[in-house]
Amino acid sequence: MKYDFDLFVIGAGSGGVRTARMSASKGLKVGIAEYQALGGTCVNVGCIPKKLFVYASEYSHIFDQAEGFGWSIAKTEFNWDILRENKNKEIERLNKIYNNLLDHVGVKVIRGRASILDPHSVKVGNNVYTAKNILIATGGTPYIPEFPGSKLVVTSNEAFYLKELPRKIIIVGGGYIAVEFAGIFKGLGVETHLVYRGPLFLKGFDSDVRNKIKEEYENQGVVLHFSTDVEEVKKINSGYCVRLSTKEEIDVDLVMYATGRIPNIKDLGLESLNIKTKSNGTIIVDDYFNTSEPSIYALGDVIGRIELTPVAIAEGMALSNFFVTGMRSSVDYTNIPTAIFSQPNSASVGLTEEEAIKIHGIDLRIYKSQFRPMKATLGGGDSKVFMKLIVIHSSDVVIGCHMVGDYAGEIIQGLAVAIKAGATKQNFDSTVGIHPTAAEEFVTMRQPVD
Ligand code: FAD
Repeated sequence: MKYDFDLFVIGAGSGGVRTARMSASKGLKVGIAEYQALGGTCVNVGCIPKKLFVYASEYSHIFDQAEGFGWSIAKTEFNWDILRENKNKEIERLNKIYNNLLDHVGVKVIRGRASILDPHSVKVGNNVYTAKNILIATGGTPYIPEFPGSKLVVTSNEAFYLKELPRKIIIVGGGYIAVEFAGIFKGLGVETHLVYRGPLFLKGFDSDVRNKIKEEYENQGVVLHFSTDVEEVKKINSGYCVRLSTKEEIDVDLVMYATGRIPNIKDLGLESLNIKTKSNGTIIVDDYFNTSEPSIYALGDVIGRIELTPVAIAEGMALSNFFVTGMRSSVDYTNIPTAIFSQPNSASVGLTEEEAIKIHGIDLRIYKSQFRPMKATLGGGDSKVFMKLIVIHSSDVVIGCHMVGDYAGEIIQGLAVAIKAGATKQNFDSTVGIHPTAAEEFVTMRQPVD
């Protein structure tokens, strides 16, 4: 049978674009449907604008330290409109680049919301396209639970486009997005409260890292309300009144919810197909991204494995390789490094101490170091750098590496190569440091903790 396309991709985000580009560059006929801006979450309302906001916010700490180095800082003033508009221009530039990248390899970009009609046809607007294979790469959307006043709150999607910077904000949630936005708003001079129902945010990260970020945020004046729920949000003249489960009422200009994300499967037409989903809506696929329908594949956030851009891209590389060569390839999900763009940054690769104990029991050595960064000697400030290595005692293999401190993401990315290659503590010890850096501490930690 002759199809319009070899591959039809739904969703031009991190995973969809990579699969489409790689497949088309090797000669396949590819179409891609997108109803929003090209580039998906990461480019438009995720990683990129977030990191730009983190950069903007970090200037406040830099100004604070400058005087100790001899700079006289005139009164600093922050202009939200300039940041938002410059960010928007940069995102539009990236949208165009994505369009060019797809165009360049002959991918047909079809604007509109797609739904699947049958295992080989997709409808976009009034047009129906047939394809040998269909890929669902529709990502996810912020989730706000139902509660009195839930319609009054915003999510990260809207936070990137606020007309005005609030003077006071409540951020609800305990994941990395909530923590990153709390850092952003605080650094931009906003009175920031973070409300989280659990006893400590950043569940799933190493407990030392979680406690360290808590300490840093408290020192910076972010007000943390743990083991607390929001009961109601009411509109009041000047903004919103938020009633917490502690019965405390806080008046703010903005309430932002970062309480998780749900997969974009609404109106995709999955009901009429043999495609299985989990109870949270994520699409079930095998090791090779095949759904229970042989001609339909899914990857990225919509399959809910590890919701990060480089993971969606790695999945796209593996799948396009299959479409082109017929050889199935999977993705190795072990030792994926991650960062939290908190202030200071944090990054990790490998196991947390809690995970390591579950697997290796007491056959472990843990190394920890905490120190004042050199910049603080003249610049001042209470911030400390924290580093941690987790080593299997019997084999000497380093299985976990964690840091809270400036440039943690940059540093851990390098160490992730060593961890992936199976480096031992002896390999770390015999590596000569770069002096004077914070990172050299990773190769000079000699004494395990008890
Ligand atoms: P997406 O990038 O979400 O793309 C899906 C696309 O499909 C969207 O463009 C959507 O419009 C489109 N679509 C949906 N339904 C349809 C339909 N029916 N028809 C047509 N098109 C459709 N990851 C990192 O690695 N590092 C970070 O620092 C980071 N920061 C983040 C910060 C925030 C605030 C958020 C929300 C996410 C962040 N992420 C980060 C996660 C990252 O953005 C996602 O993991 C990544 O974008 C997933 O890619 P994807 O291809 O699965 O989906």
